Amino acid sequence: MNFPRPLLFALACLPLIAALHAQETGKHVIFISADGMRPDAVDALGPEKAPTFFRLRKEGAWTSNARTDVVYTVTLPNHTAMITSRGVTGPEGHSWIKNSDPRLGENLHKNHKGYLSSVFAVAHDNGLSTALYASKSKFSLYDISYDDHNGAPDTTGEDNGRDKLDRYVMESETNTLVDRLVADLASDPADFIMLHLRDPDSAGHAESWNVTPGSPYLQAVARVDELVGRVLDAIEKNPNLKGNTWLILTADHGGLTGAKGHGESDEKDNFTIPYYVWGPDVPAGKDLYEVSSSSRLDPGVANPPYTTPKPPIRNGDSGNLSLSLLGLPAIPGSTINAQEDLVVREKHEAPIPPDPAATK
Ligand SMILES: [Zn+2]
Repeated sequence: MNFPRPLLFALACLPLIAALHAQETGKHVIFISADGMRPDAVDALGPEKAPTFFRLRKEGAWTSNARTDVVYTVTLPNHTAMITSRGVTGPEGHSWIKNSDPRLGENLHKNHKGYLSSVFAVAHDNGLSTALYASKSKFSLYDISYDDHNGAPDTTGEDNGRDKLDRYVMESETNTLVDRLVADLASDPADFIMLHLRDPDSAGHAESWNVTPGSPYLQAVARVDELVGRVLDAIEKNPNLKGNTWLILTADHGGLTGAKGHGESDEKDNFTIPYYVWGPDVPAGKDLYEVSSSSRLDPGVANPPYTTPKPPIRNGDSGNLSLSLLGLPAIPGSTINAQEDLVVREKHEAPIPPDPAATK
Protein backbone atom coordinates (compact mmCIF):
# COMPACT_ATOMS: atom_id res chain seq x y z
CA MET A 1 0.00 0.00 0.00
CA ASN A 2 1.25 3.46 -0.90
CA PHE A 3 0.75 6.29 1.60
CA PRO A 4 1.12 9.91 0.47
CA ARG A 5 4.37 11.39 1.80
CA PRO A 6 2.81 13.99 4.16
CA LEU A 7 0.77 11.24 5.78
CA LEU A 8 3.85 9.07 6.21
CA PHE A 9 5.63 11.98 7.85
CA ALA A 10 2.69 12.57 10.18
CA LEU A 11 2.56 8.87 11.09
CA ALA A 12 6.29 8.85 11.77
CA CYS A 13 5.85 11.81 14.11
CA LEU A 14 3.03 10.27 16.15
CA PRO A 15 5.14 8.51 18.76
CA LEU A 16 7.18 11.68 19.22
CA ILE A 17 4.06 13.81 19.63
CA ALA A 18 2.65 11.29 22.11
CA ALA A 19 5.89 11.29 24.10
CA LEU A 20 5.99 15.08 24.20
CA HIS A 21 2.39 15.20 25.27
CA ALA A 22 3.02 12.79 28.11
CA GLN A 23 6.21 14.34 29.41
CA GLU A 24 6.33 18.02 28.56
CA THR A 25 3.24 19.80 29.81
CA GLY A 26 5.55 22.65 30.79
CA LYS A 27 3.52 23.12 33.96
CA HIS A 28 4.98 22.77 37.42
CA VAL A 29 3.59 22.63 40.92
CA ILE A 30 5.65 23.34 44.02
CA PHE A 31 3.69 22.19 47.05
CA ILE A 32 5.06 23.40 50.38
CA SER A 33 4.10 22.19 53.83
CA ALA A 34 5.28 24.36 56.70
CA ASP A 35 5.23 21.94 59.64
CA GLY A 36 3.28 23.31 62.63
CA MET A 37 2.59 26.68 61.04
CA ARG A 38 -0.27 28.67 62.53
CA PRO A 39 -1.88 31.08 60.05
CA ASP A 40 -2.08 33.90 62.59
CA ALA A 41 1.72 33.89 62.86
CA VAL A 42 1.77 35.79 59.55
CA ASP A 43 -0.44 38.54 61.01
CA ALA A 44 1.67 38.65 64.15
CA LEU A 45 4.86 39.08 62.08
CA GLY A 46 3.40 41.72 59.77
CA PRO A 47 4.55 42.63 56.24
CA GLU A 48 8.05 43.69 57.29
CA LYS A 49 8.99 40.42 58.95
CA ALA A 50 6.93 38.20 56.63
CA PRO A 51 7.28 39.90 53.22
CA THR A 52 6.86 36.67 51.26
CA PHE A 53 3.61 35.68 52.92
CA PHE A 54 2.28 39.19 52.36
CA ARG A 55 3.39 38.98 48.74
CA LEU A 56 1.52 35.66 48.40
CA ARG A 57 -1.55 37.33 49.95
CA LYS A 58 -1.30 40.22 47.52
CA GLU A 59 -0.59 38.23 44.37
CA GLY A 60 -2.48 35.02 45.12
CA ALA A 61 -5.58 33.56 46.79
CA TRP A 62 -5.39 32.47 50.41
CA THR A 63 -7.13 31.74 53.67
CA SER A 64 -6.10 31.66 57.32
CA ASN A 65 -8.96 29.26 58.02
CA ALA A 66 -8.11 25.97 56.31
CA ARG A 67 -8.35 22.64 58.15
CA THR A 68 -6.31 19.59 59.02
CA ASP A 69 -7.68 16.08 59.11
CA VAL A 70 -10.66 15.72 61.46
CA VAL A 71 -9.25 13.09 63.82
CA TYR A 72 -5.47 13.70 63.75
CA THR A 73 -3.44 16.90 64.10
CA VAL A 74 0.04 15.39 63.87
CA THR A 75 2.65 15.27 61.12
CA LEU A 76 2.71 11.94 59.25
CA PRO A 77 -1.06 11.27 59.30
CA ASN A 78 -1.67 14.75 57.85
CA HIS A 79 1.11 14.63 55.26
CA THR A 80 -0.22 11.26 54.18
CA ALA A 81 -3.65 12.93 53.83
CA MET A 82 -2.02 15.60 51.64
CA ILE A 83 -0.34 13.14 49.26
CA THR A 84 -3.26 10.67 49.06
CA SER A 85 -6.15 13.21 49.36
CA ARG A 86 -7.85 10.96 51.89
CA GLY A 87 -8.70 11.40 55.54
CA VAL A 88 -6.81 9.32 58.11
CA THR A 89 -9.41 6.97 59.59
CA GLY A 90 -12.42 4.99 58.35
CA PRO A 91 -12.72 2.55 55.44
CA GLU A 92 -11.76 5.22 52.90
CA GLY A 93 -9.02 6.73 55.05
CA HIS A 94 -5.34 6.09 54.37
CA SER A 95 -4.96 4.42 57.81
CA TRP A 96 -1.45 5.76 58.66
CA ILE A 97 -1.72 6.93 62.29
CA LYS A 98 1.91 6.56 63.41
CA ASN A 99 4.07 9.65 63.66
CA SER A 100 7.56 8.16 63.81
CA ASP A 101 10.10 6.81 61.32
CA PRO A 102 8.77 3.72 59.55
CA ARG A 103 10.28 0.48 60.82
CA LEU A 104 11.98 -1.90 58.43
CA GLY A 105 9.40 -3.50 56.14
CA GLU A 106 6.67 -0.96 56.90
CA ASN A 107 4.99 1.02 54.13
CA LEU A 108 1.67 2.77 53.44
CA HIS A 109 0.11 -0.08 51.45
CA LYS A 110 0.96 -2.87 53.87
CA ASN A 111 -0.44 -0.78 56.73
CA HIS A 112 -3.61 0.04 54.76
CA LYS A 113 -3.99 -3.57 53.62
CA GLY A 114 -4.38 -2.36 50.05
CA TYR A 115 -2.53 -0.17 47.58
CA LEU A 116 -2.71 3.57 48.23
CA SER A 117 -2.21 5.73 45.20
CA SER A 118 -0.90 9.27 45.65
CA VAL A 119 -0.09 12.51 43.89
CA PHE A 120 3.40 11.09 43.22
CA ALA A 121 1.93 7.95 41.63
CA VAL A 122 -0.56 9.72 39.34
CA ALA A 123 1.93 12.37 38.23
CA HIS A 124 4.63 9.78 37.56
CA ASP A 125 2.34 7.32 35.79
CA ASN A 126 1.34 10.17 33.48
CA GLY A 127 4.96 10.75 32.53
CA LEU A 128 5.77 13.66 34.83
CA SER A 129 8.81 13.84 37.09
CA THR A 130 8.36 14.02 40.87
CA ALA A 131 10.47 15.16 43.81
CA LEU A 132 10.18 15.34 47.60
CA TYR A 133 12.45 17.57 49.67
CA ALA A 134 11.87 16.73 53.34
CA SER A 135 13.31 18.02 56.59
CA LYS A 136 12.34 15.13 58.88
CA SER A 137 13.63 11.59 58.47
CA LYS A 138 10.15 10.07 58.91
CA PHE A 139 9.31 11.22 55.36
CA SER A 140 11.28 8.19 54.20
CA LEU A 141 7.85 6.54 54.55
CA TYR A 142 6.92 8.02 51.17
CA ASP A 143 10.21 7.18 49.49
CA ILE A 144 9.83 3.57 50.64
CA SER A 145 6.11 3.31 49.81
CA TYR A 146 6.65 4.50 46.23
CA ASP A 147 9.99 2.86 45.42
CA ASP A 148 10.61 0.39 42.59
CA HIS A 149 9.47 -2.48 44.82
CA ASN A 150 6.40 -1.05 46.63
CA GLY A 151 5.09 1.27 43.91
CA ALA A 152 2.45 -0.26 41.63
CA PRO A 153 3.19 -1.15 38.01
CA ASP A 154 2.36 1.79 35.72
CA THR A 155 -0.68 0.88 33.63
CA THR A 156 -1.32 4.44 32.39
CA GLY A 157 -0.05 5.07 28.86
CA GLU A 158 3.70 4.61 28.53
CA ASP A 159 5.31 2.53 31.28
CA ASN A 160 7.20 4.94 33.54
CA GLY A 161 8.05 2.29 36.08
CA ARG A 162 7.15 1.47 39.67
CA ASP A 163 9.35 4.05 41.41
CA LYS A 164 7.00 7.05 41.62
CA LEU A 165 9.41 9.39 43.37
CA ASP A 166 12.25 10.41 41.05
CA ARG A 167 14.09 12.49 43.62
CA TYR A 168 14.00 12.18 47.41
CA VAL A 169 16.13 14.56 49.45
CA MET A 170 16.20 14.51 53.27
CA GLU A 171 18.04 17.32 55.02
CA SER A 172 17.01 18.52 58.47
CA GLU A 173 18.77 21.88 58.04
CA THR A 174 16.11 23.68 56.01
CA ASN A 175 18.46 26.34 54.64
CA THR A 176 20.61 23.60 53.13
CA LEU A 177 17.50 21.77 51.94
CA VAL A 178 16.31 24.88 50.11
CA ASP A 179 19.84 25.40 48.68
CA ARG A 180 19.43 22.02 47.04
CA LEU A 181 15.91 22.77 45.82
CA VAL A 182 16.96 26.14 44.40
CA ALA A 183 19.90 24.50 42.58
CA ASP A 184 17.54 21.87 41.14
CA LEU A 185 15.02 24.56 40.13
CA ALA A 186 17.77 26.21 38.09
CA SER A 187 19.08 23.07 36.40
CA ASP A 188 16.57 20.24 36.46
CA PRO A 189 13.25 21.00 38.17
CA ALA A 190 10.76 18.17 38.63
CA ASP A 191 7.21 18.73 37.37
CA PHE A 192 5.68 18.04 40.78
CA ILE A 193 7.70 19.10 43.79
CA MET A 194 6.84 18.75 47.46
CA LEU A 195 8.86 20.69 50.02
CA HIS A 196 8.55 20.12 53.77
CA LEU A 197 9.90 22.77 56.16
CA ARG A 198 10.05 21.70 59.80
CA ASP A 199 11.09 25.02 61.44
CA PRO A 200 7.81 26.18 63.09
CA ASP A 201 7.15 22.73 64.55
CA SER A 202 10.67 22.40 65.94
CA ALA A 203 10.47 25.86 67.57
CA GLY A 204 6.99 25.13 68.95
CA HIS A 205 8.06 21.87 70.58
CA ALA A 206 11.18 23.46 72.03
CA GLU A 207 9.82 26.84 73.16
CA SER A 208 6.02 26.61 72.77
CA TRP A 209 3.56 27.89 70.18
CA ASN A 210 3.82 31.54 71.11
CA VAL A 211 2.75 34.27 68.69
CA THR A 212 3.91 37.27 70.72
CA PRO A 213 6.51 39.48 69.00
CA GLY A 214 10.08 38.17 69.08
CA SER A 215 9.16 34.63 70.19
CA PRO A 216 11.29 31.73 68.87
CA TYR A 217 8.13 30.40 67.21
CA LEU A 218 7.56 33.61 65.26
CA GLN A 219 11.24 33.70 64.32
CA ALA A 220 10.85 30.21 62.88
CA VAL A 221 7.84 31.28 60.80
CA ALA A 222 9.89 34.28 59.60
CA ARG A 223 12.57 31.78 58.53
CA VAL A 224 9.95 29.90 56.51
CA ASP A 225 8.98 33.22 54.93
CA GLU A 226 12.59 33.75 53.86
CA LEU A 227 12.92 30.21 52.49
CA VAL A 228 9.69 30.45 50.50
CA GLY A 229 10.94 33.81 49.20
CA ARG A 230 14.02 32.02 47.84
CA VAL A 231 11.77 29.49 46.10
CA LEU A 232 9.75 32.31 44.48
CA ASP A 233 12.99 33.94 43.31
CA ALA A 234 14.15 30.65 41.82
CA ILE A 235 10.84 30.27 39.96
CA GLU A 236 11.20 33.73 38.48
CA LYS A 237 14.84 33.25 37.52
CA ASN A 238 14.11 30.19 35.37
CA PRO A 239 12.25 31.16 32.16
CA ASN A 240 10.88 27.60 31.95
CA LEU A 241 9.26 27.98 35.36
CA LYS A 242 8.17 31.60 35.29
CA GLY A 243 4.49 31.88 34.38
CA ASN A 244 4.13 28.07 34.34
CA THR A 245 4.46 27.27 38.03
CA TRP A 246 1.98 27.19 40.86
CA LEU A 247 3.02 27.42 44.47
CA ILE A 248 0.72 25.93 47.09
CA LEU A 249 1.49 26.36 50.79
CA THR A 250 -0.26 24.82 53.76
CA ALA A 251 0.57 23.08 57.05
CA ASP A 252 0.01 19.70 58.67
CA HIS A 253 -1.28 21.27 61.91
CA GLY A 254 -0.96 24.38 64.07
CA GLY A 255 -0.12 24.31 67.76
CA LEU A 256 -1.78 25.13 71.04
CA THR A 257 -1.02 28.61 72.37
CA GLY A 258 1.50 28.40 75.19
CA ALA A 259 1.84 24.62 74.83
CA LYS A 260 4.68 22.55 73.41
CA GLY A 261 2.41 20.19 71.51
CA HIS A 262 -0.41 19.96 69.00
CA GLY A 263 -1.98 16.52 69.43
CA GLU A 264 -5.47 17.51 70.64
CA SER A 265 -7.47 17.44 67.41
CA ASP A 266 -10.50 19.20 68.92
CA GLU A 267 -8.46 22.35 69.62
CA LYS A 268 -8.96 25.19 67.14
CA ASP A 269 -5.30 26.25 67.44
CA ASN A 270 -4.26 22.78 66.33
CA PHE A 271 -6.67 22.23 63.43
CA THR A 272 -6.58 25.75 61.94
CA ILE A 273 -3.95 26.07 59.22
CA PRO A 274 -3.02 28.43 56.37
CA TYR A 275 -3.67 27.76 52.69
CA TYR A 276 -1.98 29.91 50.07
CA VAL A 277 -2.11 29.43 46.29
CA TRP A 278 -0.03 31.53 43.87
CA GLY A 279 0.55 31.15 40.14
CA PRO A 280 -0.95 31.53 36.65
CA ASP A 281 -4.63 32.58 36.64
CA VAL A 282 -4.85 32.59 40.44
CA PRO A 283 -6.76 35.78 41.27
CA ALA A 284 -4.70 38.33 43.16
CA GLY A 285 -5.53 39.22 46.74
CA LYS A 286 -8.61 37.02 46.98
CA ASP A 287 -10.06 34.96 49.81
CA LEU A 288 -9.77 31.34 48.72
CA TYR A 289 -13.25 30.61 50.12
CA GLU A 290 -14.63 33.31 47.84
CA VAL A 291 -12.77 31.94 44.81
CA SER A 292 -14.05 28.43 45.54
CA SER A 293 -17.48 29.39 46.89
CA SER A 294 -19.11 26.87 44.53
CA SER A 295 -17.62 23.93 46.44
CA ARG A 296 -16.11 25.07 49.75
CA LEU A 297 -17.50 26.79 52.84
CA ASP A 298 -15.59 28.62 55.55
CA PRO A 299 -16.17 26.40 58.63
CA GLY A 300 -16.09 29.24 61.20
CA VAL A 301 -14.52 27.81 64.35
CA ALA A 302 -15.40 24.15 63.71
CA ASN A 303 -13.57 21.30 62.04
CA PRO A 304 -16.58 19.62 60.42
CA PRO A 305 -16.68 15.91 59.58
CA TYR A 306 -15.77 14.66 56.11
CA THR A 307 -19.47 13.99 55.44
CA THR A 308 -20.26 17.74 55.51
CA PRO A 309 -21.90 18.57 52.15
CA LYS A 310 -19.88 21.75 51.62
CA PRO A 311 -16.51 21.06 53.18
CA PRO A 312 -13.82 23.47 54.35
CA ILE A 313 -10.53 23.81 52.49
CA ARG A 314 -8.23 21.13 53.91
CA ASN A 315 -4.57 20.24 53.64
CA GLY A 316 -5.87 16.97 52.15
CA ASP A 317 -7.08 18.93 49.12
CA SER A 318 -3.48 19.41 48.06
CA GLY A 319 -2.73 16.14 46.24
CA ASN A 320 -5.71 16.45 43.93
CA LEU A 321 -5.35 20.23 43.60
CA SER A 322 -1.79 19.73 42.38
CA LEU A 323 -2.94 17.16 39.85
CA SER A 324 -5.79 19.36 38.59
CA LEU A 325 -3.33 22.23 38.05
CA LEU A 326 -1.07 19.84 36.12
CA GLY A 327 -4.07 18.82 33.98
CA LEU A 328 -4.20 15.31 35.41
CA PRO A 329 -7.01 13.19 36.87
CA ALA A 330 -7.63 12.80 40.59
CA ILE A 331 -5.91 10.13 42.69
CA PRO A 332 -7.75 6.78 42.37
CA GLY A 333 -9.57 6.01 45.61
CA SER A 334 -9.17 9.55 46.96
CA THR A 335 -12.07 11.24 48.78
CA ILE A 336 -10.90 14.83 49.36
CA ASN A 337 -11.17 17.05 46.27
CA ALA A 338 -11.80 13.85 44.31
CA GLN A 339 -13.93 15.89 41.89
CA GLU A 340 -11.04 18.37 41.52
CA ASP A 341 -13.56 21.04 42.44
CA LEU A 342 -11.39 23.19 44.70
CA VAL A 343 -11.28 26.32 42.54
CA VAL A 344 -8.09 28.38 42.66
CA ARG A 345 -8.03 29.89 39.16
CA GLU A 346 -10.19 32.42 37.41
CA LYS A 347 -10.78 29.89 34.64
CA HIS A 348 -11.34 26.60 36.42
CA GLU A 349 -10.91 23.72 34.02
CA ALA A 350 -13.38 20.84 34.12
CA PRO A 351 -12.08 17.90 36.14
CA ILE A 352 -10.48 15.07 34.26
CA PRO A 353 -12.14 11.73 35.05
CA PRO A 354 -9.78 9.23 36.71
CA ASP A 355 -8.19 6.74 34.36
CA PRO A 356 -10.19 3.48 34.81
CA ALA A 357 -7.03 1.52 33.98
CA ALA A 358 -5.06 3.21 36.76
CA THR A 359 -4.22 1.12 39.82
CA LYS A 360 -6.68 1.66 42.65
ZN1 LIG B 1 5.13 18.40 66.02
